[in-house]
Amino acid sequence: MALIAELTHRCPMRCPYCSNPIELQRARQELGTDQWLRVISQAADAGCMQIHFTGGEPLVRRDLETLVAAAAECSLYSNLITSGIGLDRTRLPALVSSGLEHVQVSFQHSERDLAEHLGGYRDALSKKMAAANLVREYGLPLTINFVVHRQNIRHASDMIALAISLDAQRIEIANVQFYGWALRNRSALIPTRDELKELDEIVSSARIRLRGEITIDYVAPDYYAERPKACMDGWGRRTLVISPSGYVLPCHAAHSIAGMHFENVRDGATIAEIWKSSQSFNQYRGTEWMLEPCRSCDHRERDWGGCRCQAFALTGDAAKTDPACALSAHHARLNQIGEKDASSQTAAFVYRQFSGMR
Ligand code: SF4
Ligand code: SF4
Repeated sequence: MALIAELTHRCPMRCPYCSNPIELQRARQELGTDQWLRVISQAADAGCMQIHFTGGEPLVRRDLETLVAAAAECSLYSNLITSGIGLDRTRLPALVSSGLEHVQVSFQHSERDLAEHLGGYRDALSKKMAAANLVREYGLPLTINFVVHRQNIRHASDMIALAISLDAQRIEIANVQFYGWALRNRSALIPTRDELKELDEIVSSARIRLRGEITIDYVAPDYYAERPKACMDGWGRRTLVISPSGYVLPCHAAHSIAGMHFENVRDGATIAEIWKSSQSFNQYRGTEWMLEPCRSCDHRERDWGGCRCQAFALTGDAAKTDPACALSAHHARLNQIGEKDASSQTAAFVYRQFSGMR
């Protein structure tokens, strides 16, 4: 089991594809240090083996080192998922001596001006490169993450080359998942089928060329898929997410499903109790809840019926088959939305405004 600890929604970047919710949780709503320490210890007791510190930008929390040390004390493998902004010669050594074991740095592009434009942050590329170099200098394994979309997809080869030059052990190439803020920018982000085909070829040949040297993970897009992804590897199977204000969620977009109640760590139940017995974690766990066509489908224990949040967003019913599946009655509409948005000439983004995030 893994705990995804969303320490904050605050972030110096303004990525138009950010999948965090439209209504962000404010700094004053965030769990305090003592509450996180309790959560980390309870998560280890519940069977978690890994913790991913993420956000927003987790480095904006000044207590990150304390939380990493607590995770190490509970024998949790800790991973920092960061934009790289703020990962400097003061923070990284402190995190390493607290027990941090892995770092993932996200990049928007391999070219300076485009990286600045796509992240909404000045001189982002050189700051991220400095952070990635520092991670390797301190001997930590490094993953470089690229979120790909219509405005950078043709540069995938250059982005892979950048990750190699930074001595990454793993590259994650993830198509935009259209949740939260990303949905607002869908028409400026979604690639065409031809662009995706080209990307598939680039990734496949890089995997062959770099076998044994570097791992390349690929997150396929939903809008032109034939089968859905196994979202979170199944609802309530391996992962729990804790939001900045303490909600315990089976996936980080689960709050978007209207009418569902989620427990909060502030209300007294332990992580183990919530994991085992809460209505929210049991609602879509396993296969018993499934309707046709998933119920009798041979794939049901491979993809677990896809994404509940996407099913809700596109059909109004979270128990329906994910429309990314060709067997869903809503699949053709999903394809049409993808094709229509991909053919739009829109290039302008709607950026988040983080001012007032107190
Ligand atoms: S996607 Fe961009 S804006 Fe959103 S949390 Fe990550 S770095 Fe920040
Ligand atoms: S019908 Fe359901 S279980 Fe079968 S492939 Fe589609 S989403 Fe997966």
